[in-house]
Amino acid sequence: MIVHVQGVERLCASIGHVRAGKLLDDFYTRLCTIARKNDAVERIGDRKFAILLNGMRNQGHVSLAAQKIERLARETGSKYGDQLNLNTTIGIALCPLHGEEAAELMRLAEIASLDGRCRSESVCFFEEKAAQKLFMDWSLEQRLDNALQSGDLQLHYQPKICLRTGKIVGAEALMRWHEPEIGQISPDIFIDLAESTGQIVDLTQFAIQSACRELADWQNLLPNLSVAVNITPSIIQSREIVDVLESATNIWGVSPSALTLEVTENALMEDREASHEILSQIREFGSRISIDDFGTGYSSFAYLKEIPADELKIDRSFVMGMLNDTGDYKIVEHSIAIAKSFGLCVVAEGIESAAMLEELRKLGCDHAQGYFIGEPTRAVDFEAFCQKAQTEGRAKE
Ligand code: C2E
Ligand code: MG
Ligand code: MG
Repeated sequence: MIVHVQGVERLCASIGHVRAGKLLDDFYTRLCTIARKNDAVERIGDRKFAILLNGMRNQGHVSLAAQKIERLARETGSKYGDQLNLNTTIGIALCPLHGEEAAELMRLAEIASLDGRCRSESVCFFEEKAAQKLFMDWSLEQRLDNALQSGDLQLHYQPKICLRTGKIVGAEALMRWHEPEIGQISPDIFIDLAESTGQIVDLTQFAIQSACRELADWQNLLPNLSVAVNITPSIIQSREIVDVLESATNIWGVSPSALTLEVTENALMEDREASHEILSQIREFGSRISIDDFGTGYSSFAYLKEIPADELKIDRSFVMGMLNDTGDYKIVEHSIAIAKSFGLCVVAEGIESAAMLEELRKLGCDHAQGYFIGEPTRAVDFEAFCQKAQTEGRAKE
């Protein structure tokens, strides 16, 4: 097994480098004392230890040994300060189940320890499937970095119309990634990955810059068009987003009010205080906030009352089911009523038929988006779509 000590930086900051070094030495000495005759304990880094345990009867037996090490880490930490927790992640590979060679077992235990850190689990056994996912994520992470440089990432635009006038009022910018070797990769996969690796900051910056550049291009054709860009939980908890908006709108000479940021209901619930403050700053700057995928989260009326938002977007799963499922219909109907009572503009997404469009119009929904109106397309195709609508009298003046 590999024992990885977590939070060494925090340790150094609280008790100083010298004492933190002593603590780790002390932990190593204690690890050696609990080793039995045929076991081996090696320090393989300043915060990492490799332990070979012999004669373990089964996996449960190994788990007990891991728990003993965790206890030992806690005890060692508490010797250096009352509130001091020495946290560890333990990765485990078994012989002969996972491998026979010491070097290979160490490699697999290292993978298990990394997997444990990703999953926030303090003890983790090697699993082939989890290892494959880790390797795939690393490979995708690298490819995503390349994509940001090479132009393989693109924004597509899906029109939104006003249900009262039938005219185009805006577009949602949706990211597309065509990876040269893999092909098209769904945003559900790469956005989650980017959120976990921190690449989401660059991705969001790219989306906002591209949307502003496109808006600037479309200003003559569609002067009042607004574009919505999606943002994730980590973005609404960082102040940088307002600087990114300011810089992009300045560079391209676009009004802040032409940009809407879509935040999912669930993302808003993650850190209510932090997100509340950032959303207020975004609105003070002049851009709009839309609550995306509404109905799938857990926000309360009390929270809705306070939330700094302009728009509510009903999740497409309810809209798509509303004509066949009375439950979905009621959710859509009540979501529209809730939005209106809080003075929010209400948008339905996922409209796939004329019948759905008509029903939403009757229910008093403000705006609509879905394949029936228009699929997400490249910027040039979206422009052509708007031009055509304009000649037919459907584009916003
Ligand atoms: P979302 O923001 O809720 O976007 C709407 C999704 O519904 C899009 O999926 C869109 O293609 C799809 N859609 C639109 N109309 C219809 C319809 O009539 N029927 C059906 N079945 N689907 C429809 P997409 O493009 O795969 O994006 C999935 C999610 O990925 C988005 O959900 C959004 O949360 C995220 N995403 C996409 N682009 C970005 C981005 O640039 N940044 C961030 N942070 N997230 C993004
Ligand atoms: Mg969205
Ligand atoms: Mg949505």
